[in-house]
Amino acid sequence: MTDRIIPVLDERAALRVPAGAVVAADGHVADRLQRPLRDLRVSVTDRCNFRCTYCMPKEVFDKGYRFLPHADLLTFEEITRLARLFIAHGVEKIRLTGGEPLLRKDIERLIEMLARLRTRHGRPLDLTLTTNGSILARKARALAAAGLKRVTVSLDGLDDAVFRRLNDADFPVSAVLEGIAAAADAGLAPVKVNMVVKRGVNEHEIVPMARHFRGSGHIVRFIEFMDVGSSNGWRLDDVVPSREVIRRIDAEMPLEAVEPNYGGEVAERWRYRDGGGEIGVISSVTQAFCRDCTRARLSTEGRLYLCLFATGGYDLRQMLRAGADDARISAAIGSIWHVRGDRYSELRSEATAGLRKIEMSYIGG
Ligand code: SAM
Ligand code: SF4
Ligand code: SF4
Repeated sequence: MTDRIIPVLDERAALRVPAGAVVAADGHVADRLQRPLRDLRVSVTDRCNFRCTYCMPKEVFDKGYRFLPHADLLTFEEITRLARLFIAHGVEKIRLTGGEPLLRKDIERLIEMLARLRTRHGRPLDLTLTTNGSILARKARALAAAGLKRVTVSLDGLDDAVFRRLNDADFPVSAVLEGIAAAADAGLAPVKVNMVVKRGVNEHEIVPMARHFRGSGHIVRFIEFMDVGSSNGWRLDDVVPSREVIRRIDAEMPLEAVEPNYGGEVAERWRYRDGGGEIGVISSVTQAFCRDCTRARLSTEGRLYLCLFATGGYDLRQMLRAGADDARISAAIGSIWHVRGDRYSELRSEATAGLRKIEMSYIGG
């Protein structure tokens, strides 16, 4: 494929594919920092039934907030077509996210469609989903039957009052725990449980969470509160460094470090010395892992973002709906990845000072 790619522009930030950066319509592609394209995160909705204060604060995402109209969302057919083209460039793992992905109508149908795809090596995709767990108890079986392999459930503490305050939708801990149990029963195991830790808000829940899930087979991952988006009022003082998380748990339940499962794994792994299982820490603020970042993100309306902290994305939906053929879209994907140089967490602020960052609920966490 030698067709010159017309730059696809984002209304918020014009992103240009530099001239000459044309790559094969499929095949291995590495970015400017020699990072391959391995993971694709697909946001299937920008809506959510929670208003987590660190993600969709009520003051911003209120009744007047304009979510995307349905016609703007990529259809399941469009998502599956793009997924196939991303796979041709090396993607092996797809994570559905949002917003709350289980709110997207008939999400099981999309899972069925994606589960039929094969990697370049002929293997099934590593197909997974991140959810707030609110309706997982009634959905888990259907999700597994549709071909979902694993699930990550977000839960920011076991103290009901703390959790209700954080999700700001008065949602109880017990229902999320039921969702986790249902997922495990349906074979979506091991379940990963994500806890965002915020100083002075839920840090006292670190050890109880570790204690609760120790020996369960589920893996809790403690995430540093990130400066993603522009509406969560992030301050460095609110971040509890992963080192501190490990120190606190280790004091009660001794831990030892574990080798990563694969290069580029986001979570740093630790296990209980007595064999009680493992935990993870995600240190995007205090120990950036950009040099191994192999993730692309497809927003709800079909824009390709190269970084969680990007200020603009490439409009693939426009290409799809303008009738571009597979070869052309595939070449665009390859070319865009080829010139990627994003490493926001390593630079922090210098790179995007003053620019409006994309919200996590839109780009997909
Ligand atoms: N609604 C689903 C959920 O909450 O699991 C999926 C989307 S959510 C944006 C994906 C993940 O991002 C969740 O685990 C959430 O806790 C995490 N997250 C959201 N805002 C964050 C922030 N400011 N810092 C760190 N993690 C964040
Ligand atoms: Fe919704 Fe997930 Fe964001 Fe919470 S973290 S508001 S559950 S999208
Ligand atoms: Fe990847 Fe961007 Fe996060 Fe760095 S800051 S790890 S490049 S998503």
